[in-house]
Amino acid sequence: MIDKKILDGILKKVEKPARYIGMEQNSVIKDLNNIKVKFAFSFPDVYEVGMSHLGLHILYNLINEEEDFVCERVFAPWIDMEEEMRKEKLPLYTLENKEEVKNFDFLGFTLQYEMSYTNILNILDLSNIPLLSKDRSDEDPFVIAGGPCAYNPEPIAEFVDFFVIGEGEEVTLEILNLYKRHKEGIWDREKFLKEVSQIEGIYVPRYYDVVYNEDNTIKEMLALDPEVPTIIKKRMIKDLDSMFSPEKMIVPFVETVHDRVSMEIFRGCTHGCRFCQAGMIYRPVREKSTDKIVELAERLIESTGYENVSLSSLSSCDYSELHLLITKLMERFEDKKVGVSLPSLRLDSSSIDVLKEIEKVRKSGLTFAPEAGSQRLRDVINKGITEDDLDNTVSYVFKEGWSTIKLYFMIGLPTETDEDVMGIRELAYKVKDMFFAMPKEERKGNLKVTASASCFVPKPFTPFQWMGQETIDEFYRKIYLVKNSIKDNKVTFNYHDPELSYLEAIIARGDRRVSKLILRAWEKGCKFDGWSEHFKYDSWLESMEELDIDGFFYAQRNRSLDEVLPWDFIRPGVSKDYLIREYKKSLEEQTTSDCREQCRGCGIVDCTMLGGGNK
Ligand code: SF4
Repeated sequence: MIDKKILDGILKKVEKPARYIGMEQNSVIKDLNNIKVKFAFSFPDVYEVGMSHLGLHILYNLINEEEDFVCERVFAPWIDMEEEMRKEKLPLYTLENKEEVKNFDFLGFTLQYEMSYTNILNILDLSNIPLLSKDRSDEDPFVIAGGPCAYNPEPIAEFVDFFVIGEGEEVTLEILNLYKRHKEGIWDREKFLKEVSQIEGIYVPRYYDVVYNEDNTIKEMLALDPEVPTIIKKRMIKDLDSMFSPEKMIVPFVETVHDRVSMEIFRGCTHGCRFCQAGMIYRPVREKSTDKIVELAERLIESTGYENVSLSSLSSCDYSELHLLITKLMERFEDKKVGVSLPSLRLDSSSIDVLKEIEKVRKSGLTFAPEAGSQRLRDVINKGITEDDLDNTVSYVFKEGWSTIKLYFMIGLPTETDEDVMGIRELAYKVKDMFFAMPKEERKGNLKVTASASCFVPKPFTPFQWMGQETIDEFYRKIYLVKNSIKDNKVTFNYHDPELSYLEAIIARGDRRVSKLILRAWEKGCKFDGWSEHFKYDSWLESMEELDIDGFFYAQRNRSLDEVLPWDFIRPGVSKDYLIREYKKSLEEQTTSDCREQCRGCGIVDCTMLGGGNK
């Protein structure tokens, strides 16, 4: 356990000490002396961001339900806290027992965003755990990682002892039980690693080597041991109703990104948007039943005291019994004044039905994601939203009293022209004009339209994984094209830093050699890269130069369909054939309809939708 006197002294000097004290309602504190396996769960960002992550609450409660196991939390200390900790030589500790992270059996990271990787190194360093897997000994915890970015584990393969590919609920307990058995026998770190590599969904990078071609592309990935699998299949939960779902959530003392109960209503997505990694890797769609959701929501509201339930999924309007679900939730919570919200709506007819239900409770701002400004480009990316959908939904919401609309777009999508880019402006203005086209007496509130544009990043396991990213200059040219054309104070235009998206693309499509870049950038002081005030682009550029790493090679180069990709050894469920088909269709501006209408043979083996599966 760390020296609490030192901690108390530090906490008096830092902003938001509540980030570092634990003891929140529903946190679990066990006597570590009676525990057989200790797991430190880390979200590699600041407390408020990490605590809003649903996966943390699921794994935290899942592990803590087991008598022999404990799960405690660790986040990235903010800059001021880190400074004080380093000054006082206070090691990083878990929030529950204030135990040194180094004394845990596992340190598990969730990988939600590539630009959090320098924070992972910082967390390891502050915990006095060697940064490289090869330098760790019996005294060190196993550093493991999972989450969506683990589908391309290579850029951090040097730092992580093993990865969990896919959904973690079942496999986490399998790993911890295996560890417990090993600990009860004669302990041998290597033997455990070998055995864990046999569990489906586990990837242990040290058992593989990568061979490169002269042009720097990958020739092949070699398994160095005949016993380890050459293909890593993702783990998937078949039945969400019988899966573990937490009935409690920790309630932070400080305001977090989402101060509400977050209820997962289903996994997967059927739309097939071609830029969306989540839409591909979480297939097939699996729903929780309405009764299960209502029962869990009730318990969560009771155990947390929150007044809002957010129905979370990749596309909540698609839940097959949404009307019934919302009616049941409204009935159940009518007296308690509990609100129901949906994180993002699709701008199609289903949105109106949903809005009719949730408007009874509260009218906050609405967020829609058309992603592209023109119909042509929306067809290329397979975002099945038409101009009519937009007109109908927006006129409906204005009539019903909403006046704050956020629209999300991407700039730099494959095949994009200046006309498509200007479509962003046209669409935002169209929304504004629709508001003012209503008779004055029918307008409610002050109109505010915000169009936000992120820069497109090609991601593994999407039909766009072969596409090169736009250059930074081109991103800026297009951004300013839109920005300079918006001259109405009712319409605001925001955009993301192209430099950050460029680095995100380098890492997202990176191979093992990129780990050196992440390490060098961290050595130069990079951390919290996703926070614009801390992003040190120059330090990243310097690191690339020193290491002779070519950003164009990773981020902006179009890759040929027969190139070996760094993540080719992972099987996410959707087949490469399907991704290639979708890639080709995108270039021909052809759409693929939602697979709730017709199975598209995406390669998922256990899909029960419409008789889908392995077609
Ligand atoms: S197998 Fe068919 S129905 Fe199932 S997710 Fe894939 S395309 Fe959709």
